[in-house]
Amino acid sequence: MICDNLNINEKGHLEFAGRDTVELAEKYATPLYLLDEDKIREKCRIYTSSMRKYFGEDAMPLYAGKALCIKDIYRIMREEGMGIDVVSPGEVYTARVGGFPMERAYFHGNNKTDTDISFALDMGVGYFVCDSVDELYAIEREAAKRSITQKVLLRVTPGIDPHTHQAINTGRVDSKFGAAIETGQAKDLVALALSQKHISVMGYHCHIGSQIFETTPFTDAADIMIKFSADMKDELGFEAKEINLGGGMGVRYIEEHPEIDYAANIAVIADHMKAVCSARGLKFPAVRMEPGRSIVADAGMTLYTAGTVKTIPGFKNYVSIDGGMPDNPRYALYQSPYTVELANRMNDKKDFVCTVAGRCCESGDLIQEDVPLPRPERGDIVAVLTTGAYNHSMASNYNRIPRPPVVVLRGGEDRLVLRRESYEDMLACEV
Ligand SMILES: *Cc1c(COP(=O)(O)O)cnc(C)c1O
Repeated sequence: MICDNLNINEKGHLEFAGRDTVELAEKYATPLYLLDEDKIREKCRIYTSSMRKYFGEDAMPLYAGKALCIKDIYRIMREEGMGIDVVSPGEVYTARVGGFPMERAYFHGNNKTDTDISFALDMGVGYFVCDSVDELYAIEREAAKRSITQKVLLRVTPGIDPHTHQAINTGRVDSKFGAAIETGQAKDLVALALSQKHISVMGYHCHIGSQIFETTPFTDAADIMIKFSADMKDELGFEAKEINLGGGMGVRYIEEHPEIDYAANIAVIADHMKAVCSARGLKFPAVRMEPGRSIVADAGMTLYTAGTVKTIPGFKNYVSIDGGMPDNPRYALYQSPYTVELANRMNDKKDFVCTVAGRCCESGDLIQEDVPLPRPERGDIVAVLTTGAYNHSMASNYNRIPRPPVVVLRGGEDRLVLRRESYEDMLACEV
């Protein structure tokens, strides 16, 4: 199976985190999100321990909350010694209410409003990842009002296209995020930031993309960031204390995807950075990485119940489920691959190739196409694997469908951390 928290038990049922998924579907009804807390912790530890080992004791991974943002996640992140990446006042609020120590929070986004900035300062956010000159002035104004000095990283675009696996001079310079090194705007932003009275520049941030399997895009980005830091030291006399390489390490969604050795990748990136630092006479910086997907994706699973099964002779087969794009919009948005199983019939022959369709009035509401399954019967349990990242956090009420509950599994116990939305919940904001 694609992850070691999956198994088939003696009843031929799919097990997840040591639990029979068919029993969980009966207990909580479907659609249902499951989360394997031990897997989340295991992933956090891979990042914390290998970053400390290879980058040094002052390195720290930041969990990117946009992958899955619920209060309970921040309890786990606090206990695991992670920092966090937050991208909106809503995420800031969730983390704070979840008891996260906000001095370890990094606030991102290409358009933080004055209200957002003010709110984040009041919530005690430790770092701002400043995206532009406009934002720099806004942070300076809000920090001055409070007579504080705000720690800031400056977001730069290194000009890497992770999907052509190379550093190129033009690619990605046109991003909506950050200031481009290539055009000289990054240097201007650094110079301006250094001249602000209420801003303390800690270093630089970049994020090159997501679901990246190779290490080269990361080592290329790390090279460019270190060289940029060395140039700024030479030209502006400023040496960065922190370098943040962003998120983006890939996750295995289907058998064809490689298994990823995160620790080995981190070791390779560290070797590169050390070599470039010593070549340019730089002190090795405190390194930050921002994994989102690779922390929570394979700790998640969604369970559905099969409904209508339809065969169009000579064309295709459909199995419709009781969820769909409202709880997982990723196939509709990006044709994202997922592994789908019939959880109550894991040992049956998969001789029925079908499209797994959601229940929305929308032809594009599909979860996956060309899926081999045993021919489903109405009432069978359909499991979509690896849905821990960018599923619940992207969920909507499209077609007035309530969002599913989240049940956390740990040490053989199951615990409801987020209840199923009710129809009243969906009307709650209507005045
Ligand atoms: C999305 C994002 C991340 C997390 O990316 P993953 O692919 O989920 O690891 C980290 N940092 C920034 C700035 C992002 O935009």
